[in-house]
Amino acid sequence: MPQAPNRNKEPSFRESVDMMFNRAVALMDLSPGLEEKIRVCNATYTVRFGVRLRGTIHTFTGYRSVHSEHMEPVKGGIRYAMGVNQDEVEALAALMTYKCALVEAPFGGAKGGLRIDPREWEEHELEQITRRFAYELAKRDLIHPSQNVPAPDMGTGEREMAWIADQYRRMNTTDINAAACVTGKPLNAGGIQGRVEATGRGVQYALQEFFRHEEDKKAAGLEGKLEGKRVIVQGLGNVGYHAAKFLRDEDGAIIIGIIERDGALFDEKGLDVEAVHKWIASHGGVTGYPDATYHADGAATLEAACDILIPAALEGVINMSNADRIKAPLIIEAANGPVTAGADEILRDKGCVIIPDLYANAGGVTVSYFEWVKNLSHIRFGRMQRRQEETRHQLVVDELERLDRYLGDAWTMTPTFKEKYLRGADELELVRSGLDDTMRIAYQSMREVWHSREDVRDLRTAAYLVAIGKVAASYRAKGL
Ligand code: GLU
Repeated sequence: MPQAPNRNKEPSFRESVDMMFNRAVALMDLSPGLEEKIRVCNATYTVRFGVRLRGTIHTFTGYRSVHSEHMEPVKGGIRYAMGVNQDEVEALAALMTYKCALVEAPFGGAKGGLRIDPREWEEHELEQITRRFAYELAKRDLIHPSQNVPAPDMGTGEREMAWIADQYRRMNTTDINAAACVTGKPLNAGGIQGRVEATGRGVQYALQEFFRHEEDKKAAGLEGKLEGKRVIVQGLGNVGYHAAKFLRDEDGAIIIGIIERDGALFDEKGLDVEAVHKWIASHGGVTGYPDATYHADGAATLEAACDILIPAALEGVINMSNADRIKAPLIIEAANGPVTAGADEILRDKGCVIIPDLYANAGGVTVSYFEWVKNLSHIRFGRMQRRQEETRHQLVVDELERLDRYLGDAWTMTPTFKEKYLRGADELELVRSGLDDTMRIAYQSMREVWHSREDVRDLRTAAYLVAIGKVAASYRAKGL
């Protein structure tokens, strides 16, 4: 069993997750058998399949790992990247178990991966490869509405999810719940409003909630509001882009640094996230972007002074080799596993507050949960209530208008009130409301443990304590 981190040796991703788990269970009163049962990964399926492309057969390696089946279906994304391997997929599957437990999404944890560089293949080739991978998984029930429900992750998105859903449907023509076999689908293929932005939106809601608590800000040496806070984002992919955009446009944070594969952009006065995003889409990187200082050594920008650092790219980017030099007093882990267990110790000793991945990026799976429920109920959220809500609101507005006439100049209704109040919530508003509520409640459950227990010094340990407690309770309820 992995022990406390050895400061000379960087643990693997899975060892890192296990160490964080071990640190938390050491503070719990679980039977050793149950502890082991929760920690281990139940099963990892490896598949190698060939696809005839460009005149030859190419062999691909894929994985689907199931960490815990205390609740089913199990849930977790499918990642397309060259670095995919069993250790990584298992670490990510374990994180999914704890993540789902923490935000009360009724799933066990899973993760999948395909070792492929998606940029090397044409769209029709990627479709063939994805359909074949989906076929291999679906025929073993590793894609299934009630057993195993994938979602997007790094290198995959709505397009791949639509192919997977269609492949499953072809193989299960009479399954009325087929659409619920995968989440993160496009809207016209059974998806839900707000899923694409969900993880970034969740990061925003997490920070908003953090900034509501004076004690927590004080722990990081911060004060005031999110407005004006200097933020550095690593990775302007789906998660980093949405988080940066919402924090800048809606909360008034200043995005002073954006780190990408080919370097970093820096501007103390603030970067235009939308413009940088467009530049990356058309130029393949940040190099050459005209309105900022460019640093070829992107990783060095992680160490620049700022108020909030948002690693939203790969795992292990903050490790024992650079943790000492990180200046951010607050790190929010938008990516999975960006801080290794070793770096976590170093940062904690320095007084840095880390909002951990299993909480910070749970917005994605939370909205996936809403999508899955929508698919199973076969009805869009808000379809029944919206007009009824509007009719009831109209009654109030009619009365207020009467009062307005009666009081003359003494009182008038705020001009925008009527329009805002009358409108019943649509699906997007309901999704955002459900996500905001989830992020607030989960944060409060973590901070309560953080502040009430002397032996809990950080939010990560608190998050694991809450999550493991829930998984353990569900195993006990099963009689284990
Ligand atoms: N891949 C995402 C994650 O790591 C989303 C998983 C899901 O929606 O099931 O949380």
